[in-house]
Amino acid sequence: MSKPTRLRITGGTVYDPANGVDGVVRDICIEGDRIVAELPRDAPRLDAAGMIVMPGGVDIHSHVAGSCVNHARRLLPEEHTSDPAHAPLLEDGTLARSGTGGTVPTTFATGYRYAGLGYTTAMEAAVAPIGARHAHAELDDTPILDAGFFVLLGNDDYLLRQIATGEQARARDYAAWLLGVTRGYAIKIVNPGGVALWKTGGAAAQRNVTGLDDPVGSSAVTPRKILETLAAAANALALPHPMHVHCNNLGQPGNAATTLESMKALVGQRAHFTHLQFHSYGGERGKPWQSAARDVIAYVNAHPETSVDVGQVMFGPATTVTADGPVEHLLATSTGRKWVNVDIELESGCGIVPYTYKEKAAIAALQWAVGLELFLLAKDPWRVVLSTDHPNGGTFSSYPELIRLLMDRSYRDERLKRVNQKLLAGSALLDGLSREYSFGEIAIVTRAGPARLLGLANKGHLGPGADADVTIYTSDADRAKMFATPRYVFKAGTLVVEEGQLRRAPAGKRLAVRPEYDTAVTKDLRRFFDQHATVSFENYGAEPVT
Ligand SMILES: [Zn+2]
Repeated sequence: MSKPTRLRITGGTVYDPANGVDGVVRDICIEGDRIVAELPRDAPRLDAAGMIVMPGGVDIHSHVAGSCVNHARRLLPEEHTSDPAHAPLLEDGTLARSGTGGTVPTTFATGYRYAGLGYTTAMEAAVAPIGARHAHAELDDTPILDAGFFVLLGNDDYLLRQIATGEQARARDYAAWLLGVTRGYAIKIVNPGGVALWKTGGAAAQRNVTGLDDPVGSSAVTPRKILETLAAAANALALPHPMHVHCNNLGQPGNAATTLESMKALVGQRAHFTHLQFHSYGGERGKPWQSAARDVIAYVNAHPETSVDVGQVMFGPATTVTADGPVEHLLATSTGRKWVNVDIELESGCGIVPYTYKEKAAIAALQWAVGLELFLLAKDPWRVVLSTDHPNGGTFSSYPELIRLLMDRSYRDERLKRVNQKLLAGSALLDGLSREYSFGEIAIVTRAGPARLLGLANKGHLGPGADADVTIYTSDADRAKMFATPRYVFKAGTLVVEEGQLRRAPAGKRLAVRPEYDTAVTKDLRRFFDQHATVSFENYGAEPVT
């Protein structure tokens, strides 16, 4: 089939929750790269009778590009030999590009494999501003996916200085300038203040924050103040996606208290809390972990301004990659695995530790259970969307298995029996959760919900005007099998995947924002760069300033 300028997909069972369509047999019409309401009778047809039709998948939080991800690739040569990704032969007889897979696939393989699962949009969730150019170069080499990235703020020297001197307006102008100059999409905050302290040297125990009111250098600067400043900036700038928050104390027993305090600090304001599973543990610091998923999701359920993605842990190999340096230090010392730690001047950090989640390991089993509890106790799937924080909790290739766990209770219960039960006392999952996600709910948590939370008006739905990103599945009682191999995947009206075979690999689009700001801030920034940075102001950002 050549690129359809017009195509009527006929007879499929459509799940398009953004338009209130829940399993209705209807035609979907594509013209060029858009969905249209109607086509002439003689337009080409694709028979999808008996098949399931959904918008293309949208990943709200993934790590696929940038210097930190690239460090992870460099750290894992054993994955390159164990999972070579040979160049697929495209329909026109040309070869696509080769690469390697594993937990951190190379750029081209990332695009092909996401598309192979029916995903057509993904957000890289953490790019240090100084690495923006590199991240764009990698996204340029990641075909098919429309992609953007979140820019790391909240541990950067310039912002902390503005907070210390009460310059809220300038902090907002700076955030807006930074998003524009990096061609970023949203503000990302990782362990606010904690990463800045991690880079100060000294004893490891003093190089992190423990709660929202710990001072970060100046007593006027605290994690709470950083959260408030950036959430207010994101909302005042009317960014399509609110501030995207990785809370303090990731992975620590008892961190649910910090997570809830962070949410309450922003009550009434839009904010997105990411990989919530890693932040929903009860118990106390230094004592065993337990699940606090019930408390955390109860708050989310009651607060429509709050959204989250789960960050589900999946059993098997993973690679933890985060700006949260102190967390990676803990993980590296507790596992003895090889690791990388990078300080990014004036801005952020980066730590990487390969990791394997084993079902017989008590903590991994608890993490797996906590993620499922969050999903199964969520009242509003539009605000509790699917992620594994690829490749931190597991890779995106495990999404079909995760969907099966959500849709198939008997399979889930069978898996639950096999995991280490030591830390599961008090877990809602152990008490028995009968909920099974419907196709409509899966369509929400994997495409419609993330698109809405990201403010992507043309994504995640199949109404007229939407991007013609369409995934068609052959129904199968084994949901993992079904979601692993879509029958057809269309990206912007182009058939890219057919029965697991890559047919075409068009370039994706970049998703970026350019908010307005008072340009007076650049004079101050120039001075700051001259005094402190090793990179000149002119050479900073996604393209040189002219
Ligand atoms: Zn992440």
